[in-house]
Amino acid sequence: MSARVAVVSGGNRGLGLAIVRELAARGLDVVLGSRSLEAGRAAAGQLAGLPGRVAPARLDIAAADSVSRFTMWLHREFGRCDVLVNNAAIAIDGEGDAATVDPDVVRRTFETNVLGTWHLTQVLVPAMRARRFGRVVNLSSGMGQLSTMSDGIPAYRVSKAAINALTRILAEELRDDGILVNSCCPGWVRTDMAGWSPGAPAEQAADTPVWLATLPPDGPTGGFFRNRQPLDW
Ligand code: NAP
Repeated sequence: MSARVAVVSGGNRGLGLAIVRELAARGLDVVLGSRSLEAGRAAAGQLAGLPGRVAPARLDIAAADSVSRFTMWLHREFGRCDVLVNNAAIAIDGEGDAATVDPDVVRRTFETNVLGTWHLTQVLVPAMRARRFGRVVNLSSGMGQLSTMSDGIPAYRVSKAAINALTRILAEELRDDGILVNSCCPGWVRTDMAGWSPGAPAEQAADTPVWLATLPPDGPTGGFFRNRQPLDW
């Protein structure tokens, strides 16, 4: 059987790059989606010699035409998609609170974190359905947990709560198609997004998303996980 093909959005740096590396180390062919093709090529260049192929591709999930071009390229280049890791996201709230945050910040956050993730998932699910096999991993956050919801970074928090809702809906819709859909929180990760604050190295934080991306057929679906353990919604 030819290698499984995984797509990772925002694969050029941070947690996304670590997920690409770990999946390719496990022998999957991995499409490293990147807004900048140059940055994607540079990142892929760091990953030579792994068992799986790493193929950089231009992908801006917030731009519908970019998602369309990417889908056509993927069809030509690989003709399949078995795994989707929805990793790309932005956190641009700054000091804003929900009562005062600039609506433009909310709109841009949703265009990437929610609508972009949703659109990319919609265009790749048919390839999974065709083979009756798929794994969708949504990078969420404890910031999106309703059970512990608090103030601060409201647009980001609400976008991750929306992604958790989408996870549960898709998991139900796709349950009979052999497609497992899960959310995860990677915890604090030492990346640009977290301001390089003390946190886990990206390689360590990649463990749970990679586990969800490579689940066996009887693995969980419609769950929310941190450190491979279920989290409350
Ligand atoms: P990061 O270092 O800021 O990297 C974000 C990645 O997303 C970059 O590759 C960025 O590309 C890409 N991206 C942003 N907008 C995009 C778009 N419209 N289209 C395609 N790619 C886009 O973030 P990270 O810390 O690795 O976070 C990865 C995921 O984990 C995110 O979903 C985040 O919410 C989640 N998370 C992170 C933490 C943490 O502590 N870091 C905690 C909880 C959850 P460019 O290089 O082009 O900007």
